[in-house]
Amino acid sequence: MYAINHAATALLLRKKESTLPLLPLLISVQLVEILWVLFNYLGWEHFSVSNGSIHLDFLPYSHSIFSGVVAALLSFCMINWGYHNRKLAVAFAIGVLSHVIIDLIFHDKDIQLSPFSATPVWGFGIIDYPILNFIIEFAYGIFCWWYFKGSKALLWVIIVFNVIDLPIMLAHGDSLTPFMRYPFLLPSVILFQILITWYFVYRYANSKRA
Ligand SMILES: [Zn+2]
Repeated sequence: MYAINHAATALLLRKKESTLPLLPLLISVQLVEILWVLFNYLGWEHFSVSNGSIHLDFLPYSHSIFSGVVAALLSFCMINWGYHNRKLAVAFAIGVLSHVIIDLIFHDKDIQLSPFSATPVWGFGIIDYPILNFIIEFAYGIFCWWYFKGSKALLWVIIVFNVIDLPIMLAHGDSLTPFMRYPFLLPSVILFQILITWYFVYRYANSKRA
C-alpha cells in the first residue's frame, strides 16, 4: 500500500478516539515503513529490480509479523508507562500493526513470519495487478476520509496523491533502471512520500469539515 492510504488509516484511529492527537497516529501507521527506509540506507534490508518490476527481496526486520508485533508491544509499553496515556498507547499499537496487515494484502510473497526463518512467507500479491491495486487503495482512502468525516480539502489530498501513485504502480521495465543503478533512490522516494503525505493529511485533517 502507498503512503497516502497508510496515512489515511490514521484517520480511522483518530475518529475512533477523537481526543487523540493525529501526529503520533500518523507516525504509528508508518513506523514500519520508516524502519524499512532506515534499514535500506544501512544495507540491512534490500530490494532488487528484475523481470521489469521491483521486488522487495529482503525486509524481515521491518516487515515481518514478529517484528510488527514486537514494535507494537514496545510502542504500547513506552506510551502507556512512559507517557501514562493508555488510549494513545492502544491506538498507536493498532496503527503499527495495521501497516503489516495491510502490506500482507498488497505485497508479493515477501512478508515473513519472523526474521529468524525464511519460511513461512506471505503476501496476497495485489501489487501485481496495478489497476486493481489502484482501485482498492483509492476506495480505501476515500472510505477512511468518509469515516473520519474530513473536509473537502482532505478529500482532494487523498484523490490527488492516489492519482499521482497510479503511474508509479504501472511503472515497469526500463523506467525502473534508475532504481537499479542507485539503490538509495527508492527508499528516498518512499521517505519523501511518507513525509509529504504526513504533512498534507495532518494539515487538512485538522481543518475539519470545511
Ligand atoms: Zn510497508
